Amino acid sequence: MSEVRSLDAELQAFVGQSSGPATKGRHPVNEPMITHWVEAMGDHNPVYVDDEAAKAAGFPGIIAPPTMLQAWIMRGLRASLQADAAREAGTAPADSASDQVMQLLDEAGFTSVVATNCDQHYERPLVPGDHLEVSSVIDAISGEKRTGLGIGHFVTNRLEYRDQSGELVATMRFRILKFKPGTGAAKPAAPAAPADEAPAPRPLRPRPALTEDNSFFFEGAKQHKLLIQRCVACGTLRHPPRPSCAVCRSFDWDTLEASGKGTIYSFVVNHYPQVPAFDYPLVVALVELEEGTRLIANVSGITPETAAIGTAVEVGFEDFDDELSLPVFHPADETRTN
Ligand SMILES: [Zn+2]
Repeated sequence: MSEVRSLDAELQAFVGQSSGPATKGRHPVNEPMITHWVEAMGDHNPVYVDDEAAKAAGFPGIIAPPTMLQAWIMRGLRASLQADAAREAGTAPADSASDQVMQLLDEAGFTSVVATNCDQHYERPLVPGDHLEVSSVIDAISGEKRTGLGIGHFVTNRLEYRDQSGELVATMRFRILKFKPGTGAAKPAAPAAPADEAPAPRPLRPRPALTEDNSFFFEGAKQHKLLIQRCVACGTLRHPPRPSCAVCRSFDWDTLEASGKGTIYSFVVNHYPQVPAFDYPLVVALVELEEGTRLIANVSGITPETAAIGTAVEVGFEDFDDELSLPVFHPADETRTN
């Protein structure tokens, strides 16, 4: 108990400290990056690409999508690899407060990490020519919490984005959970049997990362319903789940229960790396539902040799364990087995 208290005291000493040096964006906000982003995201709002449309909407000209915020300060692959190499060679710069917090938690056994929340607040739209710098402060570190993933501490960083004249343009709170692997809700493994008696218990399938936006899908699957997110304002269906409608921008949504009928739009056969919870070779399909949205799922009753684009499939549900049920499709002409 006193150990817990002393770790808490050590952690709390970091709250309010700068997480590390400020980072300046490699490039100013620019149109080519905006264009690539909106095309990759399938965002057709003209204010990001058409000067006239942006002016008609009351902006001085083209603006950057607000959610590109982090893109403007990313250091890039080469710098990331160099930082990794420096760390391995022991020539990395002195540990930042953030590094020290991570190290304290690692040493106390909280070695796993998962990002849990990201809240962004925009002060004004970013326009080409803005050159951002971000600084970061350790905002909060929770006491020890018991979560579904395991026992851990939540660590929240607050990032402030400023432009070339030092004006605050956006803030972001980013929260992670550092937890002890194996202390979550999953049942403890059965006592090990001698190797010649019984095979080791099968590891559970990986858990989905649940968010406010996507948990309806997995709750639906538990009830053996295939749900599609639907915009309340204009009726457009969307998948994967996200907060707002790409067509009309509405944040209001409900769900539609899909018929479960679809076709294989594309598929891959996964051979490596092999995760013990799955059987290989593993057919992973992109299924186009008759409602029009597509989702990624496993297909049963099909082999790498018989899998084919255009195959009519129908949904079934598999209860993998007490917590996880998922849609698994099968060829439509096959009798349902579940
Ligand atoms: Zn809509």
